[in-house]
Amino acid sequence: MAAALSASREGVMVTLLEREKKTGGVLNQCIHHGFGLQFYRQELTGPEFAHKLQLEMNQHSVNVISESYVRHIDTMRKYVEVLSPDGVFIIQARAIVLSTGARERPFGSLMIPGDRPAGIYTAGLAQRMVNLENTLPGRRALILGSGDIGLIMARRLTLEGMEVLGVVERLPYPGGLTRNVVQCLEDYGIPLHLSHTVVEVRGKKRLERVLLSKVDENFNIIPGTQRWLKIDTLILSAGLIPQVEDLGEGLETDPVNRGFAVSNSCETSVEGIFAAGNNVAVFDLVDYVAAEGWIAGKNAALHARGERRKSPGIPIVRGKNVGVLVPTFIDPSEHLRVYLRLRKPMDRGVVISKELDIETPFNYGTPSEMIQFVINRDKLQGLKKAVKIEVIE
Ligand SMILES: Cc1cc2nc3c(=O)[nH]c(=O)nc-3n(C[C@H](O)[C@H](O)[C@H](O)COP(=O)(O)OP(=O)(O)OC[C@H]3O[C@@H](n4cnc5c(N)ncnc54)[C@H](O)[C@@H]3O)c2cc1C
Repeated sequence: MAAALSASREGVMVTLLEREKKTGGVLNQCIHHGFGLQFYRQELTGPEFAHKLQLEMNQHSVNVISESYVRHIDTMRKYVEVLSPDGVFIIQARAIVLSTGARERPFGSLMIPGDRPAGIYTAGLAQRMVNLENTLPGRRALILGSGDIGLIMARRLTLEGMEVLGVVERLPYPGGLTRNVVQCLEDYGIPLHLSHTVVEVRGKKRLERVLLSKVDENFNIIPGTQRWLKIDTLILSAGLIPQVEDLGEGLETDPVNRGFAVSNSCETSVEGIFAAGNNVAVFDLVDYVAAEGWIAGKNAALHARGERRKSPGIPIVRGKNVGVLVPTFIDPSEHLRVYLRLRKPMDRGVVISKELDIETPFNYGTPSEMIQFVINRDKLQGLKKAVKIEVIE
C-alpha cells in the first residue's frame, strides 16, 4: 500500500493486486497497539495503520483489484498473470513492486514425532480465528516458539479466557521483541520456558498431551528433564519465511534473509522489478516495511517513466555476528538504509564498516530486534568494491 501510494504520488497509473477481499495484509488481524510510531508518529493498531493507508490511496486514485491472485510474472516483458473470480487476466506493466509478505513455518517442517491430531495451529492462523472469525482454537494451550506472534497470541488467548500454560523456546533467549516479552508474558504471569522444546505430540482425534524437554545448546534433549503437559491446543510460532516462491524467472534471493535480494533502491536482480517488506526479509516493525515500500514505489514510478536505470550494485558482505542484512546490494544514487539482525544476543557491541567509514557502538542487542541506521548517499559516491559490515563484541 505504501508503494502504491508513493508511485501514485509520482503521477503514474498504479494498480494494486490483492488476493484477499481487503487490503492491509497481516495488519488486519493485529488488533493490538504498537504500529506506526515512526511512519505516522502515532501509536496505532494494525487495522488503523492499514485504514490510514487505504484512505490516502483513495485520495490518490490507486486502482485496487482485490480477490486477485498473482500466479506468475513474465519478468522480462512485465506481464502479470492474475487469477480472479472472473477468470484469468493479464496486466502489462512497465514496472512492478512485489510485496507478497511472509508465510508461517508449518508444523510438518518441525519434524516432531508422535500423532497428527486436530488442535495444532500456527500462531497467525489462531490470531485470524480469534480476531477476525470470533472463534477460539481450544481451551488449554501451549505456545511453541517465542516469536512476536507467539507472544502476542499468549496474551490474546489469555484475555479471551483460554488457559495458556506457557511459551516454550529452544534457544536460551526469546525470539520476539523485549517489549512483547514484558507486556504479553510477564504482565500476565505466563511462564517462558527457555532452552526447552516439545519432543512428542499425542492425541487420538484431538490433541491430548505433549512431552516437554529441556535441551542443550545443540538442541539435544537433556535426559531426565522431560514431563508431559495436558493440553488440547498447540500454537506454533516457529518463524516466518519470506514468500518468494514461483513468482517469476531471474529473481535472485539472499541465502540468509531467504527473501528477494534487493538494493537500497529496492530493485531486485531484474531491472524494473522492485520488492519491499517481509518478502525481502522478516522485518520486526511495519514502519520499516512501509518506509521501504515507499522507496520501492517511488523508484518503480521513475522506472515506468523511463527516468532511472538499474545500478550495477555494489555487494554488501556479512562480517562477524551479522545474520539478516538488508540490502544485499548498494545503489549509490539512494541513501543507504541498513537493517541487520545479530546472530546472538550481546551486552554491548560496535557495528563496523571500514568501507562506509562507520563505527557505531550500541548497548545490548538481540537477534529479535533489528539494528537500523542510515548512511547519506554522499558517502556512497566513489565506492567500487564490496562493502563489509560486521559487529564486534
Ligand atoms: C502477529 C504480528 C504482530 C505484529 N506486531 C507488530 C507491532 O506491534 N508493531 C509493528 O510495527 N509491526 C508488527 N508486526 C509486523 C508488521 O505487521 C509486518 O512486518 C508488516 O505488516 C508486513 O507487511 P508486508 O506487506 O510485508 O506483508 P503482509 O502484511 O503479509 O502483506 C502481504 C500481502 O500480499 C498478499 N499476497 C501475497 N501473495 C500474493 C499473490 N501471489 N497475489 C496477490 N496477493 C498476494 C497477501 O494476501 C497480503 O495481503 C507484527 C506482525 C505480526 C504477524
